[in-house]
Amino acid sequence: MSKKVLIAGAGLGGLSAALRLAKRGYQVEIIEKNSQAGGRLNQIKKDGFTFDTGPSFFSMSYEFTEFAEDCNIRLPFKFYELDPLYTVNFKNSPVTYHLYRDVKKLAEQFKHVEPNFEENARKYLEKSKQIFHDTFDIVIKSNYDSVYHYLKTLSKVNPGHVNVLFRNYWQQVSKYFKSEDARQIISLVAFFLGRTPFDTSGVYTLLSYTEFMHDGYYNVEGGMYKIVEGIVDELKKENVKITYNTEITGFESENNRLVSLIDDKNRKWDADIFLVNADAAVFRGRIFNRKEYSEAKLDKMEWTMGPLTIYLGLKSKLPDVEHHNYYLGNNFKDYADKVFKNPEVLEKPYYYVNVLSKSNPGCAPEGGETLFFVCPVPDLRFKSNWADRDEIVSSIIDDFSMRIKKDIRPEIVSETVYTPVEWQNQFNLHRGSGLGLSHKMMQIGAFRPKNYDEVYKNVFYAGASTIPGTGLPMVLISSKLACERIYKYNAENTI
Ligand SMILES: Cc1cc2nc3c(=O)[nH]c(=O)nc-3n(C[C@H](O)[C@H](O)[C@H](O)COP(=O)(O)OP(=O)(O)OC[C@H]3O[C@@H](n4cnc5c(N)ncnc54)[C@H](O)[C@@H]3O)c2cc1C
Repeated sequence: MSKKVLIAGAGLGGLSAALRLAKRGYQVEIIEKNSQAGGRLNQIKKDGFTFDTGPSFFSMSYEFTEFAEDCNIRLPFKFYELDPLYTVNFKNSPVTYHLYRDVKKLAEQFKHVEPNFEENARKYLEKSKQIFHDTFDIVIKSNYDSVYHYLKTLSKVNPGHVNVLFRNYWQQVSKYFKSEDARQIISLVAFFLGRTPFDTSGVYTLLSYTEFMHDGYYNVEGGMYKIVEGIVDELKKENVKITYNTEITGFESENNRLVSLIDDKNRKWDADIFLVNADAAVFRGRIFNRKEYSEAKLDKMEWTMGPLTIYLGLKSKLPDVEHHNYYLGNNFKDYADKVFKNPEVLEKPYYYVNVLSKSNPGCAPEGGETLFFVCPVPDLRFKSNWADRDEIVSSIIDDFSMRIKKDIRPEIVSETVYTPVEWQNQFNLHRGSGLGLSHKMMQIGAFRPKNYDEVYKNVFYAGASTIPGTGLPMVLISSKLACERIYKYNAENTI
Protein backbone atom coordinates (compact mmCIF):
# COMPACT_ATOMS: atom_id res chain seq x y z
CA MET A 1 0.00 0.00 0.00
CA SER A 2 1.24 3.50 -0.77
CA LYS A 3 2.49 5.58 2.15
CA LYS A 4 0.60 8.64 3.34
CA VAL A 5 2.57 11.89 3.62
CA LEU A 6 1.15 14.86 5.52
CA ILE A 7 2.67 18.23 4.62
CA ALA A 8 2.44 21.17 7.05
CA GLY A 9 2.46 24.32 4.94
CA ALA A 10 1.45 25.14 1.36
CA GLY A 11 4.37 27.42 0.46
CA LEU A 12 6.42 26.65 -2.65
CA GLY A 13 8.43 24.12 -0.62
CA GLY A 14 5.31 22.20 0.44
CA LEU A 15 3.50 22.41 -2.88
CA SER A 16 6.47 21.34 -5.00
CA ALA A 17 7.31 18.45 -2.64
CA ALA A 18 3.65 17.39 -2.71
CA LEU A 19 3.67 17.11 -6.48
CA ARG A 20 7.01 15.28 -6.60
CA LEU A 21 5.66 12.77 -4.04
CA ALA A 22 2.17 12.38 -5.52
CA LYS A 23 3.71 11.67 -8.92
CA ARG A 24 5.65 8.81 -7.31
CA GLY A 25 2.52 7.23 -5.90
CA TYR A 26 2.49 8.60 -2.35
CA GLN A 27 -0.88 9.65 -0.87
CA VAL A 28 -0.36 13.30 -0.07
CA GLU A 29 -2.37 15.77 1.99
CA ILE A 30 -1.51 19.37 2.87
CA ILE A 31 -2.52 21.47 5.89
CA GLU A 32 -2.18 25.24 5.53
CA LYS A 33 -2.59 27.93 8.17
CA ASN A 34 -3.87 30.57 5.73
CA SER A 35 -6.89 30.72 3.45
CA GLN A 36 -4.88 30.28 0.23
CA ALA A 37 -1.78 28.45 -0.94
CA GLY A 38 1.61 29.99 -1.75
CA GLY A 39 3.02 31.15 1.61
CA ARG A 40 5.24 34.14 0.92
CA LEU A 41 4.69 33.62 -2.82
CA ASN A 42 1.18 34.96 -2.48
CA GLN A 43 -1.33 37.34 -3.93
CA ILE A 44 -3.64 40.15 -2.85
CA LYS A 45 -6.68 40.99 -4.99
CA LYS A 46 -8.12 44.35 -3.96
CA ASP A 47 -10.00 47.29 -5.50
CA GLY A 48 -9.68 45.77 -8.99
CA PHE A 49 -5.86 45.36 -8.68
CA THR A 50 -3.83 42.16 -8.37
CA PHE A 51 -0.61 42.29 -6.34
CA ASP A 52 2.11 39.66 -5.92
CA THR A 53 2.91 39.86 -2.20
CA GLY A 54 6.52 38.61 -2.00
CA PRO A 55 8.72 37.34 -4.83
CA SER A 56 8.60 39.52 -7.93
CA PHE A 57 11.13 37.63 -10.10
CA PHE A 58 13.28 34.52 -9.97
CA SER A 59 16.70 33.40 -11.14
CA MET A 60 17.93 29.89 -12.11
CA SER A 61 14.89 29.10 -14.25
CA TYR A 62 16.41 25.66 -14.90
CA GLU A 63 15.35 24.64 -11.38
CA PHE A 64 11.71 25.11 -12.46
CA THR A 65 12.44 23.10 -15.62
CA GLU A 66 14.01 20.36 -13.50
CA PHE A 67 10.94 20.38 -11.23
CA ALA A 68 8.60 19.94 -14.24
CA GLU A 69 10.74 17.11 -15.61
CA ASP A 70 10.88 15.41 -12.21
CA CYS A 71 7.07 15.51 -12.07
CA ASN A 72 6.72 14.57 -15.73
CA ILE A 73 4.52 17.59 -16.49
CA ARG A 74 4.71 20.67 -18.70
CA LEU A 75 5.51 23.64 -16.51
CA PRO A 76 2.03 24.98 -15.67
CA PHE A 77 2.96 28.66 -16.16
CA LYS A 78 4.96 30.72 -18.65
CA PHE A 79 7.99 32.78 -17.71
CA TYR A 80 9.90 35.39 -19.66
CA GLU A 81 13.34 36.90 -19.31
CA LEU A 82 13.99 40.40 -17.95
CA ASP A 83 16.41 42.68 -19.76
CA PRO A 84 17.29 45.11 -18.29
CA LEU A 85 17.32 43.07 -15.10
CA TYR A 86 16.49 46.20 -13.08
CA THR A 87 17.27 49.90 -12.82
CA VAL A 88 19.15 51.71 -10.05
CA ASN A 89 18.89 55.36 -9.08
CA PHE A 90 20.97 57.10 -6.39
CA LYS A 91 19.33 59.93 -4.48
CA ASN A 92 19.82 63.39 -6.05
CA SER A 93 21.37 61.85 -9.15
CA PRO A 94 19.90 62.50 -12.61
CA VAL A 95 21.33 59.13 -13.76
CA THR A 96 19.28 55.93 -13.75
CA TYR A 97 21.40 52.85 -14.45
CA HIS A 98 19.83 50.12 -16.57
CA LEU A 99 21.33 46.78 -15.65
CA TYR A 100 21.56 45.06 -19.04
CA ARG A 101 22.86 41.52 -19.37
CA ASP A 102 25.02 42.49 -22.34
CA VAL A 103 28.31 43.56 -20.71
CA LYS A 104 29.13 46.07 -23.49
CA LYS A 105 25.77 47.75 -23.12
CA LEU A 106 26.15 47.63 -19.34
CA ALA A 107 29.61 49.21 -19.54
CA GLU A 108 28.18 52.14 -21.53
CA GLN A 109 26.17 53.08 -18.43
CA PHE A 110 29.28 53.25 -16.26
CA LYS A 111 31.75 54.92 -18.62
CA HIS A 112 31.48 58.29 -16.82
CA VAL A 113 32.47 56.76 -13.44
CA GLU A 114 34.53 53.70 -14.38
CA PRO A 115 36.16 53.83 -17.83
CA ASN A 116 37.48 50.22 -17.52
CA PHE A 117 34.13 48.83 -16.47
CA GLU A 118 33.84 46.31 -19.32
CA GLU A 119 37.26 44.77 -18.69
CA ASN A 120 36.73 44.74 -14.92
CA ALA A 121 33.25 43.24 -15.26
CA ARG A 122 34.48 40.47 -17.57
CA LYS A 123 37.22 39.50 -15.08
CA TYR A 124 34.82 39.67 -12.14
CA LEU A 125 32.16 37.61 -13.92
CA GLU A 126 34.73 35.03 -15.03
CA LYS A 127 35.71 34.50 -11.37
CA SER A 128 32.02 34.39 -10.33
CA LYS A 129 31.43 31.80 -13.06
CA GLN A 130 34.25 29.60 -11.76
CA ILE A 131 32.91 29.83 -8.20
CA PHE A 132 29.41 28.93 -9.41
CA HIS A 133 30.49 25.91 -11.47
CA ASP A 134 32.89 24.68 -8.79
CA THR A 135 30.35 24.86 -5.95
CA PHE A 136 26.74 24.83 -7.06
CA ASP A 137 26.16 21.21 -8.02
CA ILE A 138 28.65 19.88 -5.46
CA VAL A 139 27.67 21.88 -2.37
CA ILE A 140 24.20 23.36 -2.90
CA LYS A 141 22.47 20.35 -4.40
CA SER A 142 23.56 17.74 -1.86
CA ASN A 143 22.09 16.20 1.25
CA TYR A 144 24.44 15.93 4.24
CA ASP A 145 24.29 13.20 6.87
CA SER A 146 26.84 14.83 9.18
CA VAL A 147 29.17 17.77 9.57
CA TYR A 148 31.98 15.42 8.51
CA HIS A 149 30.10 14.55 5.30
CA TYR A 150 29.59 18.29 4.64
CA LEU A 151 33.24 19.16 5.24
CA LYS A 152 34.29 16.27 3.03
CA THR A 153 32.04 17.64 0.28
CA LEU A 154 33.51 21.12 0.74
CA SER A 155 36.99 19.66 0.39
CA LYS A 156 36.09 18.68 -3.21
CA VAL A 157 35.70 22.37 -4.11
CA ASN A 158 38.59 23.87 -6.05
CA PRO A 159 41.02 25.15 -3.34
CA GLY A 160 41.62 28.20 -5.56
CA HIS A 161 38.42 29.69 -4.11
CA VAL A 162 39.45 29.46 -0.44
CA ASN A 163 40.61 33.09 -0.35
CA VAL A 164 37.11 34.22 -1.41
CA LEU A 165 35.76 32.51 1.72
CA PHE A 166 37.70 34.99 3.82
CA ARG A 167 36.35 38.03 1.98
CA ASN A 168 32.91 39.52 2.23
CA TYR A 169 30.82 40.31 -0.83
CA TRP A 170 31.87 43.96 -0.84
CA GLN A 171 35.58 43.12 -0.61
CA GLN A 172 35.33 40.64 -3.47
CA VAL A 173 33.48 43.15 -5.68
CA SER A 174 35.91 45.91 -4.71
CA LYS A 175 38.85 43.83 -5.94
CA TYR A 176 37.51 44.27 -9.47
CA PHE A 177 35.64 47.60 -9.52
CA LYS A 178 37.01 51.00 -8.51
CA SER A 179 33.99 53.33 -8.54
CA GLU A 180 31.51 53.52 -5.68
CA ASP A 181 28.58 53.37 -8.15
CA ALA A 182 29.77 50.10 -9.71
CA ARG A 183 30.67 48.56 -6.33
CA GLN A 184 27.32 49.42 -4.80
CA ILE A 185 25.26 48.31 -7.77
CA ILE A 186 27.11 45.03 -8.36
CA SER A 187 26.91 44.16 -4.68
CA LEU A 188 23.16 44.87 -4.41
CA VAL A 189 22.53 41.15 -4.98
CA ALA A 190 23.62 40.48 -1.39
CA PHE A 191 20.42 42.27 -0.31
CA PHE A 192 18.43 39.69 -2.33
CA LEU A 193 19.81 37.13 0.13
CA GLY A 194 18.33 39.27 2.90
CA ARG A 195 21.61 40.61 4.32
CA THR A 196 24.18 43.24 3.21
CA PRO A 197 27.36 42.99 1.10
CA PHE A 198 29.38 43.61 4.28
CA ASP A 199 28.12 40.52 6.12
CA THR A 200 27.62 38.15 3.18
CA SER A 201 30.45 35.87 2.12
CA GLY A 202 32.34 36.66 -1.08
CA VAL A 203 31.43 33.15 -2.28
CA TYR A 204 27.94 34.46 -3.03
CA THR A 205 29.38 36.66 -5.81
CA LEU A 206 28.50 33.55 -7.83
CA LEU A 207 25.07 35.20 -7.93
CA SER A 208 26.43 37.94 -10.21
CA TYR A 209 27.24 35.23 -12.72
CA THR A 210 23.74 33.78 -12.43
CA GLU A 211 22.11 37.20 -12.94
CA PHE A 212 24.28 38.62 -15.73
CA MET A 213 25.63 35.61 -17.61
CA HIS A 214 24.27 32.22 -16.78
CA ASP A 215 20.51 32.49 -16.80
CA GLY A 216 19.26 35.98 -15.85
CA TYR A 217 16.01 36.91 -14.12
CA TYR A 218 12.49 35.91 -15.00
CA ASN A 219 8.94 37.11 -14.56
CA VAL A 220 5.82 35.03 -14.92
CA GLU A 221 3.10 35.87 -17.40
CA GLY A 222 0.06 37.08 -15.46
CA GLY A 223 2.10 37.58 -12.26
CA MET A 224 4.17 35.37 -9.96
CA TYR A 225 1.09 33.81 -8.33
CA LYS A 226 0.51 31.86 -11.57
CA ILE A 227 3.28 29.55 -10.27
CA VAL A 228 1.12 28.64 -7.27
CA GLU A 229 -2.12 28.36 -9.26
CA GLY A 230 -0.39 26.11 -11.80
CA ILE A 231 1.04 23.73 -9.18
CA VAL A 232 -2.26 23.64 -7.24
CA ASP A 233 -4.06 22.64 -10.49
CA GLU A 234 -1.56 19.81 -11.01
CA LEU A 235 -2.09 18.70 -7.39
CA LYS A 236 -5.84 18.55 -7.95
CA LYS A 237 -5.26 16.16 -10.86
CA GLU A 238 -3.35 13.94 -8.41
CA ASN A 239 -6.17 14.15 -5.80
CA VAL A 240 -3.97 15.95 -3.30
CA LYS A 241 -6.25 17.65 -0.80
CA ILE A 242 -5.27 20.99 0.76
CA THR A 243 -7.06 21.97 3.98
CA TYR A 244 -6.85 25.72 4.56
CA ASN A 245 -7.31 27.88 7.69
CA THR A 246 -5.77 25.11 9.78
CA GLU A 247 -2.68 25.71 11.89
CA ILE A 248 -0.59 22.91 13.37
CA THR A 249 -0.12 23.60 17.07
CA GLY A 250 0.79 20.24 18.61
CA PHE A 251 1.78 16.62 17.98
CA GLU A 252 1.65 13.05 19.22
CA SER A 253 4.61 10.71 19.07
CA GLU A 254 5.56 7.16 19.96
CA ASN A 255 9.24 6.51 20.68
CA ASN A 256 11.13 7.93 17.72
CA ARG A 257 8.13 8.17 15.38
CA LEU A 258 5.68 11.02 14.93
CA VAL A 259 2.14 9.64 14.95
CA SER A 260 0.08 12.76 14.28
CA LEU A 261 0.14 16.50 14.06
CA ILE A 262 -2.59 18.31 15.98
CA ASP A 263 -4.25 21.49 14.74
CA ASP A 264 -5.67 24.58 16.43
CA LYS A 265 -9.14 22.95 16.55
CA ASN A 266 -7.63 19.93 18.29
CA ARG A 267 -8.04 17.64 15.25
CA LYS A 268 -5.43 14.94 14.76
CA TRP A 269 -3.77 14.43 11.39
CA ASP A 270 -2.21 10.97 11.08
CA ALA A 271 0.29 9.89 8.45
CA ASP A 272 3.20 7.51 7.86
CA ILE A 273 5.56 10.34 6.94
CA PHE A 274 5.45 14.08 7.74
CA LEU A 275 7.01 16.92 5.79
CA VAL A 276 7.24 20.31 7.48
CA ASN A 277 7.22 23.29 5.11
CA ALA A 278 6.69 25.81 7.94
CA ASP A 279 10.00 27.45 8.93
CA ALA A 280 12.33 24.59 9.92
CA ALA A 281 13.79 26.41 12.94
CA VAL A 282 10.55 27.97 14.24
CA PHE A 283 8.58 24.70 13.92
CA ARG A 284 11.19 22.72 15.86
CA GLY A 285 11.01 25.28 18.69
CA ARG A 286 7.33 26.15 18.78
CA ILE A 287 5.75 22.78 17.96
CA PHE A 288 8.35 20.17 18.97
CA ASN A 289 9.54 22.26 21.97
CA ARG A 290 13.21 21.71 21.17
CA LYS A 291 15.45 23.61 23.55
CA GLU A 292 17.96 24.41 20.78
CA TYR A 293 15.19 26.32 18.99
CA SER A 294 13.53 28.10 21.95
CA GLU A 295 12.42 31.71 21.31
CA ALA A 296 15.57 32.92 23.13
CA LYS A 297 17.84 30.65 21.03
CA LEU A 298 16.10 31.72 17.81
CA ASP A 299 16.70 35.36 18.78
CA LYS A 300 20.44 34.64 18.99
CA MET A 301 20.54 33.25 15.44
CA GLU A 302 21.20 35.49 12.45
CA TRP A 303 18.04 36.28 10.48
CA THR A 304 17.44 38.06 7.20
CA MET A 305 15.85 41.49 6.90
CA GLY A 306 12.32 42.28 7.97
CA PRO A 307 10.44 43.54 4.94
CA LEU A 308 8.12 46.55 4.93
CA THR A 309 5.98 45.97 1.84
CA ILE A 310 3.55 48.48 0.31
CA TYR A 311 0.99 47.57 -2.35
CA LEU A 312 -0.41 50.59 -4.24
CA GLY A 313 -3.03 50.74 -6.97
CA LEU A 314 -2.77 53.90 -9.09
CA LYS A 315 -5.45 55.29 -11.39
CA SER A 316 -2.88 56.49 -13.93
CA LYS A 317 0.18 55.08 -15.72
CA LEU A 318 3.87 55.62 -14.96
CA PRO A 319 5.34 55.29 -18.47
CA ASP A 320 8.90 56.19 -17.42
CA VAL A 321 9.29 53.62 -14.64
CA GLU A 322 10.64 50.15 -15.56
CA HIS A 323 9.38 46.84 -14.18
CA HIS A 324 12.05 46.46 -11.42
CA ASN A 325 13.71 49.48 -9.82
CA TYR A 326 16.02 50.15 -6.89
CA TYR A 327 16.16 53.56 -5.22
CA LEU A 328 19.30 54.01 -3.13
CA GLY A 329 20.56 56.83 -0.91
CA ASN A 330 24.06 58.30 -0.73
CA ASN A 331 25.21 56.60 2.49
CA PHE A 332 25.58 52.95 1.42
CA LYS A 333 27.99 51.72 4.12
CA ASP A 334 26.28 53.62 6.94
CA TYR A 335 22.91 52.34 5.69
CA ALA A 336 24.14 48.74 5.49
CA ASP A 337 25.61 48.99 9.03
CA LYS A 338 22.27 50.12 10.43
CA VAL A 339 19.63 48.36 8.35
CA PHE A 340 19.25 45.28 10.55
CA LYS A 341 19.29 46.85 13.98
CA ASN A 342 18.73 50.58 13.88
CA PRO A 343 15.27 52.02 13.06
CA GLU A 344 16.97 55.38 12.33
CA VAL A 345 17.77 53.89 8.94
CA LEU A 346 14.15 54.58 7.93
CA GLU A 347 14.82 58.30 7.94
CA LYS A 348 16.63 57.77 4.61
CA PRO A 349 15.08 54.57 3.26
CA TYR A 350 16.46 52.44 0.44
CA TYR A 351 13.74 50.55 -1.38
CA TYR A 352 12.70 48.50 -4.39
CA VAL A 353 9.68 49.19 -6.60
CA ASN A 354 8.06 46.66 -8.90
CA VAL A 355 5.50 47.75 -11.47
CA LEU A 356 3.66 44.48 -12.04
CA SER A 357 1.15 45.97 -14.50
CA LYS A 358 4.00 47.03 -16.82
CA SER A 359 4.17 43.60 -18.45
CA ASN A 360 0.91 42.23 -17.01
CA PRO A 361 -1.78 44.79 -17.89
CA GLY A 362 -4.51 42.48 -16.52
CA CYS A 363 -3.23 43.17 -12.98
CA ALA A 364 -4.61 46.76 -12.98
CA PRO A 365 -7.87 48.32 -14.20
CA GLU A 366 -7.63 50.02 -17.63
CA GLY A 367 -5.24 52.98 -17.46
CA GLY A 368 -4.04 52.09 -13.95
CA GLU A 369 -0.79 50.75 -12.49
CA THR A 370 -0.01 48.12 -9.83
CA LEU A 371 2.99 49.05 -7.63
CA PHE A 372 4.78 46.92 -5.05
CA PHE A 373 7.42 48.45 -2.74
CA VAL A 374 9.87 46.47 -0.60
CA CYS A 375 11.88 48.37 1.99
CA PRO A 376 14.35 46.39 4.17
CA VAL A 377 13.78 47.21 7.85
CA PRO A 378 15.02 45.92 11.22
CA ASP A 379 13.12 42.80 12.31
CA LEU A 380 10.84 42.82 15.36
CA ARG A 381 13.74 42.20 17.77
CA PHE A 382 15.06 45.66 16.92
CA LYS A 383 11.85 47.52 15.99
CA SER A 384 8.79 46.03 17.60
CA ASN A 385 6.59 49.12 17.56
CA TRP A 386 5.12 50.03 14.20
CA ALA A 387 2.85 52.87 15.41
CA ASP A 388 4.85 55.12 13.04
CA ARG A 389 4.02 52.90 10.06
CA ASP A 390 1.96 55.50 8.17
CA GLU A 391 4.65 58.15 8.59
CA ILE A 392 7.32 55.80 7.21
CA VAL A 393 5.12 54.71 4.28
CA SER A 394 4.37 58.36 3.55
CA SER A 395 8.06 59.27 3.45
CA ILE A 396 8.74 56.43 0.98
CA ILE A 397 5.87 57.56 -1.27
CA ASP A 398 7.21 61.15 -1.15
CA ASP A 399 10.75 60.01 -1.95
CA PHE A 400 9.51 57.91 -4.89
CA SER A 401 7.40 60.83 -6.20
CA MET A 402 10.46 63.07 -6.02
CA ARG A 403 12.62 60.53 -7.90
CA ILE A 404 10.16 60.01 -10.74
CA LYS A 405 9.17 63.70 -10.80
CA LYS A 406 5.47 62.97 -10.42
CA ASP A 407 3.41 63.19 -7.26
CA ILE A 408 1.67 59.80 -7.13
CA ARG A 409 -0.30 60.62 -3.98
CA PRO A 410 -3.45 61.91 -5.79
CA GLU A 411 -3.33 58.82 -8.06
CA ILE A 412 -3.51 56.23 -5.24
CA VAL A 413 -6.84 54.37 -5.18
CA SER A 414 -5.73 51.25 -3.30
CA GLU A 415 -3.21 50.85 -0.46
CA THR A 416 -2.17 47.84 1.63
CA VAL A 417 0.87 47.70 3.93
CA TYR A 418 2.57 44.70 5.57
CA THR A 419 5.12 45.50 8.29
CA PRO A 420 7.22 42.67 9.81
CA VAL A 421 4.28 42.22 12.23
CA GLU A 422 2.01 41.07 9.38
CA TRP A 423 4.79 38.93 7.84
CA GLN A 424 5.38 37.28 11.22
CA ASN A 425 1.72 36.67 12.03
CA GLN A 426 0.61 35.46 8.61
CA PHE A 427 3.38 32.99 7.90
CA ASN A 428 4.93 32.26 11.31
CA LEU A 429 8.19 33.94 10.32
CA HIS A 430 10.52 34.55 13.27
CA ARG A 431 10.30 38.23 14.29
CA GLY A 432 9.00 39.00 10.79
CA SER A 433 12.25 38.02 9.05
CA GLY A 434 11.24 37.87 5.38
CA LEU A 435 13.70 35.36 3.95
CA GLY A 436 14.29 33.16 7.01
CA LEU A 437 17.69 32.30 8.50
CA SER A 438 20.64 34.16 7.00
CA HIS A 439 23.31 32.41 4.94
CA LYS A 440 26.29 33.08 7.17
CA MET A 441 28.86 30.28 7.10
CA MET A 442 27.66 28.75 10.38
CA GLN A 443 24.06 28.65 9.15
CA ILE A 444 24.50 26.91 5.81
CA GLY A 445 25.12 23.32 4.73
CA ALA A 446 25.34 20.93 7.67
CA PHE A 447 25.03 23.89 10.07
CA ARG A 448 21.57 24.93 8.81
CA PRO A 449 18.52 23.28 10.45
CA LYS A 450 18.57 19.82 8.87
CA ASN A 451 15.98 18.57 6.38
CA TYR A 452 15.43 15.47 8.54
CA ASP A 453 14.33 15.53 12.13
CA GLU A 454 16.81 14.85 14.94
CA VAL A 455 14.28 12.80 16.95
CA TYR A 456 11.47 11.50 14.72
CA LYS A 457 12.69 9.29 11.90
CA ASN A 458 9.54 9.91 9.81
CA VAL A 459 9.73 13.74 9.82
CA PHE A 460 11.43 15.82 7.10
CA TYR A 461 11.66 19.54 6.25
CA ALA A 462 11.52 21.57 3.03
CA GLY A 463 11.72 25.35 2.68
CA ALA A 464 13.84 28.46 3.05
CA SER A 465 15.27 27.86 6.55
CA THR A 466 16.55 24.35 5.89
CA ILE A 467 19.10 23.40 3.20
CA PRO A 468 20.12 24.85 0.83
CA GLY A 469 18.59 28.29 1.54
CA THR A 470 16.18 31.02 0.59
CA GLY A 471 14.62 32.17 -2.70
CA LEU A 472 12.34 30.29 -5.08
CA PRO A 473 14.99 28.18 -6.91
CA MET A 474 16.63 27.21 -3.60
CA VAL A 475 13.26 26.20 -2.18
CA LEU A 476 12.65 23.97 -5.22
CA ILE A 477 16.03 22.33 -4.61
CA SER A 478 15.06 22.00 -0.97
CA SER A 479 11.90 20.07 -1.85
CA LYS A 480 13.94 17.79 -4.11
CA LEU A 481 16.49 17.08 -1.36
CA ALA A 482 13.74 16.44 1.23
CA CYS A 483 11.92 14.09 -1.17
CA GLU A 484 15.15 12.16 -1.78
CA ARG A 485 15.31 11.58 1.98
CA ILE A 486 11.67 10.45 1.99
CA TYR A 487 12.24 7.96 -0.88
CA LYS A 488 15.21 6.54 1.01
CA TYR A 489 13.29 6.35 4.29
CA ASN A 490 10.40 4.66 2.52
CA ALA A 491 12.65 2.11 0.81
CA GLU A 492 14.31 1.26 4.15
CA ASN A 493 10.99 0.98 6.00
CA THR A 494 8.92 -1.02 3.54
CA ILE A 495 8.67 -4.70 4.32
C1 LIG B 1 9.04 40.58 0.55
C2 LIG B 1 9.68 39.35 -0.03
C3 LIG B 1 10.21 39.39 -1.31
C4 LIG B 1 10.80 38.25 -1.88
N1 LIG B 1 11.27 38.32 -3.16
C5 LIG B 1 11.78 37.23 -3.74
C6 LIG B 1 12.12 37.25 -5.13
O1 LIG B 1 11.95 38.27 -5.81
N2 LIG B 1 12.62 36.10 -5.68
C7 LIG B 1 12.78 34.95 -4.95
O2 LIG B 1 13.25 33.95 -5.51
N3 LIG B 1 12.46 34.91 -3.63
C8 LIG B 1 11.95 36.00 -3.02
N4 LIG B 1 11.55 35.95 -1.71
C9 LIG B 1 11.80 34.72 -0.94
C10 LIG B 1 10.75 33.66 -1.19
O3 LIG B 1 9.47 34.22 -1.04
C11 LIG B 1 10.89 32.53 -0.18
O4 LIG B 1 12.23 32.06 -0.14
C12 LIG B 1 9.99 31.36 -0.52
O5 LIG B 1 8.73 31.77 -0.98
C13 LIG B 1 9.85 30.52 0.74
O6 LIG B 1 9.04 29.40 0.48
P1 LIG B 1 8.81 28.32 1.61
O7 LIG B 1 7.95 27.27 1.02
O8 LIG B 1 10.08 27.92 2.22
O9 LIG B 1 8.07 29.09 2.81
P2 LIG B 1 6.67 29.85 2.90
O10 LIG B 1 6.34 30.50 1.62
O11 LIG B 1 6.75 30.71 4.10
O12 LIG B 1 5.62 28.67 3.15
C14 LIG B 1 5.44 28.08 4.40
C15 LIG B 1 3.94 27.85 4.61
O13 LIG B 1 3.74 27.20 5.85
C16 LIG B 1 2.59 27.77 6.47
N5 LIG B 1 2.69 27.51 7.91
C17 LIG B 1 3.57 28.05 8.78
N6 LIG B 1 3.39 27.52 10.01
C18 LIG B 1 2.37 26.66 9.91
C19 LIG B 1 1.69 25.81 10.84
N7 LIG B 1 2.07 25.75 12.14
N8 LIG B 1 0.65 25.06 10.40
C20 LIG B 1 0.25 25.10 9.09
N9 LIG B 1 0.86 25.88 8.17
C21 LIG B 1 1.90 26.64 8.58
C22 LIG B 1 2.67 29.24 6.10
O14 LIG B 1 1.41 29.88 6.25
C23 LIG B 1 3.15 29.16 4.66
O15 LIG B 1 2.06 29.08 3.77
C24 LIG B 1 10.92 37.06 -1.13
C25 LIG B 1 10.37 37.00 0.17
C26 LIG B 1 9.76 38.13 0.71
C27 LIG B 1 9.16 38.06 2.09
